[in-house]
Amino acid sequence: ELVSPLPSETRIITVSNQKGGVGKTTTTVNLASALARRGARVLVIDLDPQGNASTALGVPHRPEVTSVYDVLLGDSSLHDALQPTTDHENLSCVPSTINLAGAEIELVSLVAREQRLRTAIEAFLSESEERFHYIFIDCPPSLGLLTVNAFVAASEVLIPIQCEYYALEGLSQLLGNIQLIQKHLNPVLRVSTIVLTMYDARTNLAQEVAGEVRSHFPSEVLNAVIPRSVRISEAPSYGQTVHAYDGGSIGAIAYLEAAAEIAERGAASETQKNEGA
Ligand code: ADP
Ligand code: MG
Repeated sequence: ELVSPLPSETRIITVSNQKGGVGKTTTTVNLASALARRGARVLVIDLDPQGNASTALGVPHRPEVTSVYDVLLGDSSLHDALQPTTDHENLSCVPSTINLAGAEIELVSLVAREQRLRTAIEAFLSESEERFHYIFIDCPPSLGLLTVNAFVAASEVLIPIQCEYYALEGLSQLLGNIQLIQKHLNPVLRVSTIVLTMYDARTNLAQEVAGEVRSHFPSEVLNAVIPRSVRISEAPSYGQTVHAYDGGSIGAIAYLEAAAEIAERGAASETQKNEGA
C-alpha cells in the first residue's frame, strides 16, 4: 500500500555527526526499515565498532562473523559480509564487529586508505544481481578514517540533529570536513538531508533549536520531526526497529513520514536533473 518513488540509481547516504548520542544509529536503522517497508531494497552498512545498527537489525556481529572489517582490511567482498535482517526481507545489513575498533589505526598504512569502502561498494553494485535502491552507512562518532571512507563512498550526507542545548556545536567542523572531502576526494558529495531528532514539543528549547536549524538549512531539514519516544529507545534492546517493535507508535509513523520525504525529494531532484539535461 505504501509505495514510495524508487530512485533509478542507488542512493548512497552517509549518516554522520561527530557527536555521540544524537540519533545516528536510530535514524539509520529506522529510516532504512521504513524505506524497505515502502518497497525499496535497502542495505545498511554498519561502520561503528559498537555495532549498534547490527544489533538493532537483529544481525549477529560476534568477532568471528565476516564483517565490514574484513571488507576494509581483508579480502572479503561486501557480498561475503552481507546478511539478511529479521526486520524485513527488503533490508540487508553488513555488520560491524569489535575488530573495527582498531581499523582507524590499521588503515593508516594501507594504499588508497580513504577509498576502500567506495571500491568495495562499486564492485558490489556492478556484480550484484539484486538491485539496491538505498545504501545507508552508519558512522562512528568521530571524523577519523572510517568516517572519511563513508564520505568518499557516498553521494549524500544525512545529519541527525538532536533538539537540545549545543545542537549546532560542532556542526561547522563537520561541514568543514565535508567541504574538504568534496574538494579533494569526492566532488559529488553533498549534505542532502537534516533530520531533527528527539524532539520534545513541550519544551521551548526544542522549538527554538528546530527554528534555528531550519533558518540555517531551509532546504535540507525534513518537515517530519522525530519525537522523543520511549518506544524508539526500547526497540533496539529487543533487536528490533521501531517498525517491528511498535509499528503504530508515533515514533514509527514519524520515521515513515521522514522516509517518504527522502524518497519524494530524491525523485524531484532526479526529474530536475533530467529536465536540465
Ligand atoms: P548515535 O548513533 O548518534 O550515538 P543513537 O541512535 O545510538 O545515537 O541514540 C542515542 C540514544 O538515544 C540511544 O539510547 C537511543 O535509543 C536514544 N534515542 C535515539 N532517538 C531517540 C528518540 N527519538 N526518542 C528517544 N530516545 C532516542
Ligand atoms: Mg551510533
